[in-house]
Amino acid sequence: MKNSTGIMKKYYCWKCEKLMPFLEENEWEQISSLLEDAVKAIKNYRAKHSCDLHTARENCKPEAMRKFEEFTGMKGVQFEVIYHHRLSDWGQECPNCNHLLRTSKAKLCANCGWKVKKSE
Ligand SMILES: [Zn+2]
Ligand SMILES: [Zn+2]
Repeated sequence: MKNSTGIMKKYYCWKCEKLMPFLEENEWEQISSLLEDAVKAIKNYRAKHSCDLHTARENCKPEAMRKFEEFTGMKGVQFEVIYHHRLSDWGQECPNCNHLLRTSKAKLCANCGWKVKKSE
């Protein structure tokens, strides 16, 4: 079942150091295949216009970035940032403070110190 009207959840991103939208697996699948092309698109843009990386990033908007914006409503998120916004790469949501645990193997919440209970 596709949840088309779901509200994008935002979590504190430990790498971006701010609240960011994270991609569900079905969204990630649509974007991940575009990420390689995004790298190429920026490279091609630089070669074509012989400009620096910064200028290329300002002017070139790869499909992956457009998709991310479509899914999350957040503009201008660079592809290398998108890479780590796959929800399944992170741990569970902390029931205490709602931060994501940093990894799926994390034993405690790095924000509030809540401990994962070993039940499974
Ligand atoms: Zn991030
Ligand atoms: Zn916590």
